[in-house]
Amino acid sequence: MMAAGAKRKGEMGEAPGAKRTPGHWSQGLLSSMDDPELRVDADDKVVIIKDKYPKALHHFLILPKEKIANLKKLKSEHILLLKHIHKKGIEIAEKADKNLQFRFGYHAVPSMSHLHMHVISQDFNSPFLKTKKHWNSFTTEYFIDSKDILDQLEDKGRVETNTTENEQLLKRELRCTVFLCTLCSSYDG
Ligand code: AMP
Repeated sequence: MMAAGAKRKGEMGEAPGAKRTPGHWSQGLLSSMDDPELRVDADDKVVIIKDKYPKALHHFLILPKEKIANLKKLKSEHILLLKHIHKKGIEIAEKADKNLQFRFGYHAVPSMSHLHMHVISQDFNSPFLKTKKHWNSFTTEYFIDSKDILDQLEDKGRVETNTTENEQLLKRELRCTVFLCTLCSSYDG
């Protein structure tokens, strides 16, 4: 059992400079891709798994079969693959619940290795959503929409993310995401 307050590995709890060797927890998505409990769909290009610590009622990860470590490794040649990942995201979201709103995107500074797109319903109703970091990682610009990643790749042939600036976003005060929410004092438009 985990001690109270201990960070669950794979949930943005890595010490700066930690090594990512084979078998390290940050490689966990690779074994989850073959785990029948988590794997929900696959085709010749991608595997779709359930997020092991879902931050909403429906939370999936879509991973390419091609070995791509992260956003920084993307090149123009991956545009078609990313469009396919986006299309599979729409399909799995519709299958999960047509009435819920979903977002499709990537964490700017992912904690887990191997490129993965999050497909997450916007209810954020989950016992695993426990920390400010979790909330901010899905509700600030730290979460980059798949369409924006595709735009960057099409325009520049690469994806640029600023690690320091993005890590600051995780520390931002909690803000409500409901547009014009009158209950939320920190809403600043
Ligand atoms: P990130 O790397 O920040 O994009 O997020 C990694 C996501 O992977 C988080 O939403 C975790 O809940 C999830 N996760 C961590 N470990 C595993 C695992 N072994 N299998 C499936 N999902 C995982």
